[in-house]
Amino acid sequence: MGGMWALRAEGLTHRYPEVVLFADLGLELAPGEVRAVLGPSGSGKTTLVHLLAGILPLQAGRLWWGEDEVTRLGEEALARLRRERVGLVFQHHYLLDELTALENVLVPGMIQGRPDPARARKLLERVGLGRSPHLRPEALSGGERQRVAVARALYPRPRVVLADEPTGALDRANARTVRDLLLELAQESGAAVLLATHDEALVKGWPVWRLEDGRLR
Ligand code: ADP
Ligand code: MG
Repeated sequence: MGGMWALRAEGLTHRYPEVVLFADLGLELAPGEVRAVLGPSGSGKTTLVHLLAGILPLQAGRLWWGEDEVTRLGEEALARLRRERVGLVFQHHYLLDELTALENVLVPGMIQGRPDPARARKLLERVGLGRSPHLRPEALSGGERQRVAVARALYPRPRVVLADEPTGALDRANARTVRDLLLELAQESGAAVLLATHDEALVKGWPVWRLEDGRLR
């Protein structure tokens, strides 16, 4: 019963050989809801984001994206649904070196077989790169690359945006710009946002879940 939520998880448990990171962790995000997950390094933020993104298999518990239970899907169906529903932004941009900024934003559309260059162009304009669609990542600054990554994440109109230290490699000014653009574009499209960070100042004023001892408070 994930219907009224953009993202819902219950009973998540995750163990590494040395540690139990979570036991019976649950969370819910309504459409359009914005949340930060705050926790120090090693508290499990990246693991949590990877579980919620369906990148790491669940050891226990259940996960829904919208009304679809992710836990029931096979690998291929899961990958397809993730491309449609979930926008991912990480500390590293993961842009493809050999593609231009515009082509990088279009990658999700190309995989889906219906690229919309006009939409990609518009998103690039929104992140302040309307004049550099032809540039490759190597010709962009760190902040610009991360803005392209934000545009790419929002391109498929995801219902959930999961961001793991999306500004972790940037200076303060660029970090704020990327944070603001991520939030703006997600809110315009009604996507829920979960942003994991160790940086309290970055998410000042946001509703926060603190990840402590394997629980969200
Ligand atoms: P955070 O993103 O908050 O820094 P992580 O999810 O990366 O936290 O890691 C949480 C804990 O799990 C850390 O103690 C880390 O050493 C451990 N850990 C992370 N990934 C693995 C792994 N693949 N194998 C074993 N331990 C891991
Ligand atoms: Mg991390």
